[in-house]
Amino acid sequence: MQPKQAADKMTESEIEAFRRDLLDWYDRHRRTLPWRAGPAQTADPYHVWLSEIMLQQTVVAAVIPFFLKFVDKWPTVHDLAAADQQDVMDAWAGLGYYSRARNLHKCAQVIAHEYNGVFPQVPAELKKLPGIGDYTSAAITAIAFDRPATVIDGNVDRVISRYFAITEPLPDSKPQIRQYAGMLSEARADRPGDFAQAMMDLGATICTPKSPKCILCPLSGSCKGHESGIHQTLPHKKAKPQKPTRYGYIYWITDRNGRVLCHRRPPEGLLGGMTGLPTSEWGEDIENIKHFLHSDQNAPVKTKAQVRHVFTHFNLMLDGYLIDIKENRVEFPEDYYWVSRKNMQNIEMPTVFKKFVRLML
Ligand code: SF4
Repeated sequence: MQPKQAADKMTESEIEAFRRDLLDWYDRHRRTLPWRAGPAQTADPYHVWLSEIMLQQTVVAAVIPFFLKFVDKWPTVHDLAAADQQDVMDAWAGLGYYSRARNLHKCAQVIAHEYNGVFPQVPAELKKLPGIGDYTSAAITAIAFDRPATVIDGNVDRVISRYFAITEPLPDSKPQIRQYAGMLSEARADRPGDFAQAMMDLGATICTPKSPKCILCPLSGSCKGHESGIHQTLPHKKAKPQKPTRYGYIYWITDRNGRVLCHRRPPEGLLGGMTGLPTSEWGEDIENIKHFLHSDQNAPVKTKAQVRHVFTHFNLMLDGYLIDIKENRVEFPEDYYWVSRKNMQNIEMPTVFKKFVRLML
Protein backbone atom coordinates (compact mmCIF):
# COMPACT_ATOMS: atom_id res chain seq x y z
CA MET A 1 0.00 0.00 0.00
CA GLN A 2 1.33 3.44 -0.85
CA PRO A 3 1.59 5.91 2.03
CA LYS A 4 -1.00 8.68 1.80
CA GLN A 5 1.56 11.21 2.80
CA ALA A 6 5.25 10.67 2.18
CA ALA A 7 7.39 10.81 5.29
CA ASP A 8 10.07 13.49 5.48
CA LYS A 9 13.44 12.11 4.65
CA MET A 10 15.94 11.98 7.49
CA THR A 11 19.56 12.65 6.71
CA GLU A 12 22.05 9.88 7.31
CA SER A 13 23.52 11.73 10.29
CA GLU A 14 20.04 12.23 11.82
CA ILE A 15 19.37 8.50 11.49
CA GLU A 16 22.71 7.66 13.01
CA ALA A 17 22.15 10.08 15.91
CA PHE A 18 18.68 8.63 16.60
CA ARG A 19 20.02 5.07 16.64
CA ARG A 20 23.07 5.91 18.72
CA ASP A 21 21.06 7.83 21.36
CA LEU A 22 18.47 5.10 21.59
CA LEU A 23 20.96 2.21 21.76
CA ASP A 24 23.09 3.99 24.38
CA TRP A 25 19.95 4.43 26.49
CA TYR A 26 19.01 0.78 25.93
CA ASP A 27 22.40 -0.40 27.14
CA ARG A 28 21.70 1.28 30.46
CA HIS A 29 17.95 0.77 30.85
CA ARG A 30 16.90 -2.34 28.96
CA ARG A 31 14.14 -4.40 30.58
CA THR A 32 15.07 -7.83 31.86
CA LEU A 33 12.49 -10.28 30.52
CA PRO A 34 12.59 -14.08 30.78
CA TRP A 35 12.67 -14.62 27.01
CA ARG A 36 15.35 -12.06 26.37
CA ALA A 37 19.03 -12.75 25.90
CA GLY A 38 21.26 -10.64 28.15
CA PRO A 39 24.03 -8.42 26.77
CA ALA A 40 26.47 -10.45 24.67
CA GLN A 41 24.21 -13.53 24.86
CA THR A 42 22.60 -15.20 21.86
CA ALA A 43 18.81 -15.22 21.76
CA ASP A 44 16.99 -18.55 21.69
CA PRO A 45 14.67 -18.49 18.63
CA TYR A 46 12.20 -20.83 20.39
CA HIS A 47 11.91 -18.40 23.32
CA VAL A 48 11.61 -15.39 21.02
CA TRP A 49 8.92 -17.03 18.89
CA LEU A 50 6.95 -18.30 21.89
CA SER A 51 7.03 -14.93 23.63
CA GLU A 52 6.10 -13.00 20.49
CA ILE A 53 3.05 -15.22 19.87
CA MET A 54 2.00 -14.74 23.49
CA LEU A 55 2.57 -10.98 23.32
CA GLN A 56 0.16 -10.56 20.39
CA GLN A 57 -2.69 -8.49 21.93
CA THR A 58 -1.44 -9.24 25.45
CA VAL A 59 0.62 -7.18 27.90
CA VAL A 60 4.07 -8.26 29.12
CA ALA A 61 3.01 -8.75 32.77
CA ALA A 62 0.27 -11.20 31.76
CA VAL A 63 2.60 -13.12 29.45
CA ILE A 64 5.49 -13.75 31.89
CA PRO A 65 3.86 -16.54 34.01
CA PHE A 66 2.54 -18.27 30.88
CA PHE A 67 5.92 -18.10 29.16
CA LEU A 68 7.62 -19.59 32.23
CA LYS A 69 5.01 -22.35 32.46
CA PHE A 70 5.42 -23.25 28.78
CA VAL A 71 9.22 -23.42 28.78
CA ASP A 72 9.12 -25.45 31.98
CA LYS A 73 6.65 -27.96 30.51
CA TRP A 74 8.07 -27.91 26.98
CA PRO A 75 11.72 -26.76 27.04
CA THR A 76 12.26 -27.11 23.28
CA VAL A 77 10.23 -26.75 20.12
CA HIS A 78 10.43 -30.56 19.73
CA ASP A 79 8.84 -31.02 23.17
CA LEU A 80 6.05 -28.62 22.29
CA ALA A 81 5.50 -30.33 18.92
CA ALA A 82 5.18 -33.71 20.66
CA ALA A 83 2.70 -32.39 23.26
CA ASP A 84 -0.95 -33.33 23.17
CA GLN A 85 -2.88 -30.46 21.60
CA GLN A 86 -5.37 -30.47 24.46
CA ASP A 87 -2.55 -30.03 27.01
CA VAL A 88 -1.33 -27.01 25.05
CA MET A 89 -4.85 -25.54 24.95
CA ASP A 90 -5.28 -26.14 28.68
CA ALA A 91 -1.93 -24.54 29.48
CA TRP A 92 -2.98 -21.51 27.42
CA ALA A 93 -6.31 -21.10 29.25
CA GLY A 94 -6.56 -17.61 30.72
CA LEU A 95 -4.28 -15.95 28.16
CA GLY A 96 -7.07 -15.31 25.64
CA TYR A 97 -7.21 -15.29 21.83
CA TYR A 98 -7.22 -19.07 21.79
CA SER A 99 -6.61 -19.54 18.08
CA ARG A 100 -3.04 -18.51 18.96
CA ALA A 101 -2.60 -21.71 20.99
CA ARG A 102 -3.82 -23.93 18.16
CA ASN A 103 -1.52 -22.19 15.69
CA LEU A 104 1.37 -22.30 18.17
CA HIS A 105 1.09 -26.07 18.38
CA LYS A 106 0.74 -26.45 14.60
CA CYS A 107 3.72 -24.17 14.04
CA ALA A 108 5.85 -26.15 16.52
CA GLN A 109 5.03 -29.33 14.58
CA VAL A 110 5.98 -27.74 11.25
CA ILE A 111 9.26 -26.44 12.69
CA ALA A 112 10.06 -29.78 14.34
CA HIS A 113 9.14 -32.00 11.39
CA GLU A 114 9.75 -29.93 8.28
CA TYR A 115 12.53 -27.63 9.44
CA ASN A 116 14.30 -30.11 11.69
CA GLY A 117 13.68 -27.86 14.70
CA VAL A 118 15.43 -24.84 13.16
CA PHE A 119 13.43 -21.63 12.70
CA PRO A 120 13.77 -19.87 9.33
CA GLN A 121 15.55 -16.52 9.58
CA VAL A 122 13.77 -14.29 7.07
CA PRO A 123 10.28 -12.76 7.25
CA ALA A 124 9.10 -14.25 3.93
CA GLU A 125 9.80 -17.80 5.16
CA LEU A 126 8.53 -17.17 8.68
CA LYS A 127 5.23 -15.82 7.33
CA LYS A 128 4.48 -19.19 5.74
CA LEU A 129 4.18 -20.69 9.23
CA PRO A 130 0.89 -20.89 11.17
CA GLY A 131 0.18 -17.88 13.37
CA ILE A 132 3.07 -15.74 12.08
CA GLY A 133 2.20 -12.49 10.33
CA ASP A 134 4.02 -9.27 9.44
CA TYR A 135 4.79 -8.14 12.98
CA THR A 136 5.85 -11.50 14.41
CA SER A 137 8.03 -12.43 11.43
CA ALA A 138 9.87 -9.11 11.66
CA ALA A 139 10.28 -9.44 15.44
CA ILE A 140 11.71 -12.96 15.17
CA THR A 141 14.06 -11.93 12.34
CA ALA A 142 15.43 -8.98 14.31
CA ILE A 143 15.41 -10.31 17.86
CA ALA A 144 16.20 -14.00 17.38
CA PHE A 145 18.64 -13.66 14.47
CA ASP A 146 19.85 -10.08 14.74
CA ARG A 147 18.98 -9.40 11.13
CA PRO A 148 17.58 -6.05 9.94
CA ALA A 149 13.77 -5.90 9.98
CA THR A 150 11.20 -3.21 10.67
CA VAL A 151 9.35 -4.19 13.83
CA ILE A 152 6.25 -2.16 14.60
CA ASP A 153 4.06 -2.85 17.60
CA GLY A 154 1.82 -0.48 19.56
CA ASN A 155 4.81 0.98 21.41
CA VAL A 156 6.60 1.74 18.18
CA ASP A 157 3.44 3.29 16.68
CA ARG A 158 3.37 5.68 19.63
CA VAL A 159 7.08 6.58 19.66
CA ILE A 160 7.19 7.20 15.91
CA SER A 161 3.91 9.18 15.91
CA ARG A 162 5.23 11.45 18.64
CA TYR A 163 8.79 11.74 17.47
CA PHE A 164 7.70 12.79 13.98
CA ALA A 165 4.57 14.63 15.20
CA ILE A 166 2.26 12.60 12.94
CA THR A 167 -1.22 14.03 13.41
CA GLU A 168 -3.09 11.77 11.01
CA PRO A 169 -5.06 9.29 13.11
CA LEU A 170 -4.32 5.59 13.35
CA PRO A 171 -4.86 3.33 11.48
CA ASP A 172 -4.63 5.69 8.45
CA SER A 173 -1.19 6.83 9.61
CA LYS A 174 0.23 3.28 9.56
CA PRO A 175 1.89 3.57 6.13
CA GLN A 176 3.61 6.78 7.22
CA ILE A 177 4.72 5.22 10.51
CA ARG A 178 6.04 2.22 8.59
CA GLN A 179 8.00 4.49 6.28
CA TYR A 180 9.66 6.32 9.17
CA ALA A 181 10.30 3.13 11.11
CA GLY A 182 11.76 1.55 7.95
CA MET A 183 14.05 4.54 7.43
CA LEU A 184 15.44 3.95 10.93
CA SER A 185 15.83 0.19 10.79
CA GLU A 186 15.86 -1.32 7.31
CA ALA A 187 19.23 -2.40 5.97
CA ARG A 188 20.91 -1.31 9.22
CA ALA A 189 23.22 -4.13 10.21
CA ASP A 190 24.27 -2.52 13.50
CA ARG A 191 22.43 -4.34 16.34
CA PRO A 192 19.02 -4.85 14.64
CA GLY A 193 17.67 -6.95 17.51
CA ASP A 194 18.68 -4.45 20.18
CA PHE A 195 17.26 -1.58 18.13
CA ALA A 196 13.87 -3.30 17.82
CA GLN A 197 13.79 -4.04 21.54
CA ALA A 198 15.01 -0.56 22.42
CA MET A 199 12.08 1.01 20.53
CA MET A 200 9.67 -1.26 22.38
CA ASP A 201 11.29 -0.57 25.75
CA LEU A 202 11.24 3.18 25.17
CA GLY A 203 7.52 3.02 24.37
CA ALA A 204 6.80 0.76 27.34
CA THR A 205 8.76 2.65 29.97
CA ILE A 206 9.37 6.28 28.85
CA CYS A 207 7.12 7.24 25.94
CA THR A 208 4.13 5.77 27.74
CA PRO A 209 0.52 6.34 26.60
CA LYS A 210 -0.18 8.67 29.52
CA SER A 211 2.34 11.15 30.95
CA PRO A 212 5.41 10.36 28.80
CA LYS A 213 8.64 11.02 30.73
CA CYS A 214 10.26 13.24 28.12
CA ILE A 215 12.75 14.53 30.66
CA LEU A 216 14.30 11.03 30.77
CA CYS A 217 14.00 10.34 27.05
CA PRO A 218 17.18 9.97 24.97
CA LEU A 219 15.32 11.37 21.94
CA SER A 220 13.84 14.49 23.55
CA GLY A 221 16.39 16.83 21.91
CA SER A 222 15.08 16.02 18.43
CA CYS A 223 11.49 14.88 19.09
CA LYS A 224 9.10 16.99 16.99
CA GLY A 225 6.07 16.11 19.09
CA HIS A 226 7.83 17.20 22.26
CA GLU A 227 9.16 20.34 20.63
CA SER A 228 5.70 21.40 19.49
CA GLY A 229 4.04 20.35 22.75
CA ILE A 230 1.50 18.03 21.11
CA HIS A 231 3.18 14.76 22.08
CA GLN A 232 0.70 13.88 24.86
CA THR A 233 -2.20 13.95 22.39
CA LEU A 234 -0.50 11.54 19.97
CA PRO A 235 -1.10 9.16 18.39
CA HIS A 236 -4.56 10.28 17.34
CA LYS A 237 -6.92 7.38 16.81
CA LYS A 238 -10.06 7.13 14.72
CA ALA A 239 -13.12 6.53 16.86
CA LYS A 240 -13.99 2.86 16.91
CA PRO A 241 -17.58 1.81 16.27
CA GLN A 242 -19.34 0.80 19.46
CA LYS A 243 -19.23 -2.91 20.21
CA PRO A 244 -22.52 -4.79 20.25
CA THR A 245 -23.54 -6.67 23.37
CA ARG A 246 -24.49 -10.34 23.22
CA TYR A 247 -26.51 -12.09 25.89
CA GLY A 248 -26.91 -15.66 27.02
CA TYR A 249 -27.13 -18.05 29.95
CA ILE A 250 -24.38 -19.94 31.77
CA TYR A 251 -25.10 -23.02 33.85
CA TRP A 252 -23.88 -24.64 37.03
CA ILE A 253 -25.28 -28.13 36.50
CA THR A 254 -24.78 -30.59 39.35
CA ASP A 255 -25.56 -34.29 39.75
CA ARG A 256 -26.43 -36.41 42.77
CA ASN A 257 -22.72 -36.66 43.74
CA GLY A 258 -22.32 -32.91 43.69
CA ARG A 259 -20.21 -33.05 40.53
CA VAL A 260 -20.34 -30.16 38.08
CA LEU A 261 -20.88 -30.49 34.33
CA CYS A 262 -18.10 -29.12 32.13
CA HIS A 263 -17.98 -28.78 28.38
CA ARG A 264 -15.16 -29.16 25.92
CA ARG A 265 -16.00 -26.58 23.26
CA PRO A 266 -15.82 -27.51 19.56
CA PRO A 267 -12.35 -27.06 18.05
CA GLU A 268 -13.29 -24.24 15.71
CA GLY A 269 -14.76 -20.85 16.57
CA LEU A 270 -14.52 -18.58 19.58
CA LEU A 271 -12.78 -20.23 22.57
CA GLY A 272 -12.46 -23.30 20.30
CA GLY A 273 -11.16 -26.44 21.97
CA MET A 274 -11.21 -24.91 25.44
CA THR A 275 -12.90 -26.34 28.50
CA GLY A 276 -15.80 -24.30 29.82
CA LEU A 277 -19.19 -24.57 31.43
CA PRO A 278 -22.35 -25.22 29.45
CA THR A 279 -23.95 -22.10 28.05
CA SER A 280 -26.87 -21.27 25.81
CA GLU A 281 -26.31 -19.71 22.40
CA TRP A 282 -25.16 -16.11 22.65
CA GLY A 283 -27.20 -13.51 20.77
CA GLU A 284 -28.17 -9.88 20.72
CA ASP A 285 -31.83 -10.54 21.43
CA ILE A 286 -32.14 -12.08 24.89
CA GLU A 287 -35.84 -12.81 24.36
CA ASN A 288 -35.03 -15.36 21.68
CA ILE A 289 -32.35 -17.28 23.53
CA LYS A 290 -33.33 -20.79 24.52
CA HIS A 291 -32.04 -22.58 27.58
CA PHE A 292 -29.41 -25.25 27.03
CA LEU A 293 -31.45 -27.83 28.95
CA HIS A 294 -35.02 -27.48 29.98
CA SER A 295 -37.61 -29.99 31.15
CA ASP A 296 -40.02 -30.16 34.06
CA GLN A 297 -37.51 -32.13 36.12
CA ASN A 298 -34.55 -29.96 35.09
CA ALA A 299 -35.85 -26.43 35.13
CA PRO A 300 -33.02 -23.92 35.33
CA VAL A 301 -33.15 -21.75 38.45
CA LYS A 302 -31.92 -18.21 38.01
CA THR A 303 -29.14 -17.02 40.34
CA LYS A 304 -27.95 -13.52 41.06
CA ALA A 305 -24.61 -14.37 39.45
CA GLN A 306 -23.90 -12.56 36.21
CA VAL A 307 -20.78 -12.74 34.06
CA ARG A 308 -19.66 -9.80 31.99
CA HIS A 309 -16.80 -10.20 29.60
CA VAL A 310 -15.25 -8.14 26.83
CA PHE A 311 -14.20 -9.84 23.61
CA THR A 312 -12.51 -8.04 20.72
CA HIS A 313 -15.69 -7.58 18.72
CA PHE A 314 -18.46 -7.69 21.31
CA ASN A 315 -19.35 -7.47 24.98
CA LEU A 316 -20.91 -10.52 26.57
CA MET A 317 -23.39 -10.68 29.42
CA LEU A 318 -24.36 -14.11 30.77
CA ASP A 319 -27.00 -14.75 33.43
CA GLY A 320 -26.13 -17.60 35.76
CA TYR A 321 -28.53 -20.54 36.26
CA LEU A 322 -28.47 -23.64 38.45
CA ILE A 323 -29.73 -27.01 37.27
CA ASP A 324 -29.85 -29.88 39.72
CA ILE A 325 -30.31 -33.23 37.98
CA LYS A 326 -30.07 -35.47 41.05
CA GLU A 327 -33.29 -37.35 40.50
CA ASN A 328 -33.15 -38.42 36.88
CA ARG A 329 -30.59 -39.52 34.36
CA VAL A 330 -29.80 -37.17 31.55
CA GLU A 331 -27.53 -38.24 28.71
CA PHE A 332 -25.11 -35.58 27.55
CA PRO A 333 -23.03 -35.71 24.36
CA GLU A 334 -19.47 -36.91 24.87
CA ASP A 335 -17.95 -33.42 24.86
CA TYR A 336 -19.73 -32.86 28.21
CA TYR A 337 -18.21 -34.44 31.31
CA TRP A 338 -18.44 -34.32 35.09
CA VAL A 339 -15.84 -32.81 37.39
CA SER A 340 -15.88 -33.06 41.19
CA ARG A 341 -16.73 -29.76 42.85
CA LYS A 342 -13.41 -29.62 44.66
CA ASN A 343 -11.52 -29.98 41.38
CA MET A 344 -13.41 -27.18 39.68
CA GLN A 345 -10.95 -24.53 40.75
CA ASN A 346 -8.05 -26.53 39.27
CA ILE A 347 -9.56 -26.84 35.80
CA GLU A 348 -7.86 -24.59 33.29
CA MET A 349 -10.54 -22.47 31.62
CA PRO A 350 -10.83 -19.18 29.74
CA THR A 351 -11.46 -16.21 32.02
CA VAL A 352 -15.11 -15.85 31.06
CA PHE A 353 -15.84 -19.28 32.63
CA LYS A 354 -13.43 -18.81 35.54
CA LYS A 355 -15.42 -15.75 36.57
CA PHE A 356 -18.57 -17.87 36.94
CA VAL A 357 -16.72 -20.73 38.69
CA ARG A 358 -15.38 -18.25 41.25
CA LEU A 359 -18.88 -16.89 41.85
CA MET A 360 -20.36 -20.36 42.31
CA LEU A 361 -17.61 -21.67 44.58
S1 SF4 B 1 10.57 13.14 23.88
FE1 SF4 B 1 8.71 12.52 24.88
S2 SF4 B 1 7.21 12.31 23.25
FE2 SF4 B 1 9.22 12.38 22.28
S3 SF4 B 1 9.78 10.23 22.03
FE3 SF4 B 1 10.64 10.93 23.98
S4 SF4 B 1 9.11 10.41 25.53
FE4 SF4 B 1 8.12 10.30 23.52
